[in-house]
Amino acid sequence: MSNQTNSNCIFCQIVAGTSSSSKFYEDDEILGFMILRPKYTGECLIVPKAHIDQFMDIDDELAAKIIKIGQKTARKMRKIFQPKRVGYVVSGYGVPHAHLIVLPCYEMNDITSKHYAVLRDGEIHFTQQNVPLASHEELDRIASLLRIEPQN
Ligand SMILES: [Zn+2]
Repeated sequence: MSNQTNSNCIFCQIVAGTSSSSKFYEDDEILGFMILRPKYTGECLIVPKAHIDQFMDIDDELAAKIIKIGQKTARKMRKIFQPKRVGYVVSGYGVPHAHLIVLPCYEMNDITSKHYAVLRDGEIHFTQQNVPLASHEELDRIASLLRIEPQN
């Protein structure tokens, strides 16, 4: 297992505990926490604790564990929030620390960046600022609903 960290990386800061987060899963290698600007209640992400930029560079065994936590999270979301579908997103443009986003979806374009789009001077721009910050109390509440106990 890599212990590589990057002190400038917000996810490494969350892993180290120097930035706060609403966690719903944690083991030696993986952390799951709520997204600060959820497009829908329940949107969250699962990251390797090691600072690895691209998801494809995570070793296969650890990547499989992350997906497995994603599966459990998605099934809990289906039960609690009853979305039409639960989507997974891996792209890494937001933060260069590999992450699996798990997102309740209610219509086809929820999985795209539709919620981030704003029209400015006749051009479409994408900004996370377009989605409001959730309160820490609310994120903690949702994290406790999604809580998954680690098991090996
Ligand atoms: Zn990092």
